[in-house]
Amino acid sequence: MKFDFLCPHCNGFLNVGDHVILAASNKENVAGLVLLDVRLGKYKISRHPNLYFSKGEQLNFTCPLCKSALAVPEVHKNLNALYMRDDEDWQCTILFSGVYGEKSTYRITEASVESFGDDKYGHLNLANIPEMII
Ligand SMILES: [Zn+2]
Repeated sequence: MKFDFLCPHCNGFLNVGDHVILAASNKENVAGLVLLDVRLGKYKISRHPNLYFSKGEQLNFTCPLCKSALAVPEVHKNLNALYMRDDEDWQCTILFSGVYGEKSTYRITEASVESFGDDKYGHLNLANIPEMII
């Protein structure tokens, strides 16, 4: 099954090949594009060699198309959201950590929360995810 990743604000396609392309910056305004692995639970990030982030620092992820912030502080201060859609138009929400080096990803559907990565937060459950996210 092939999935596309979309911006939850402009619905633009953010995946090319095996990557999801996002804009990232830190509080020192070091900024650039980062390529995330489309496979949930895989955390290899490709970036420009001068785009140096420290492990554990909070990054601001934005859509490279509409510039909207992907953060969803109403769910968790560290998490960002994207939509994932298959070729039959089934859609779910992907939440991923904005902390550099943190391996924490969630796939949210109307019925379930599936988590990926070694650093997942134990307290995230469907009851505390606002309906607008799903
Ligand atoms: Zn967008």
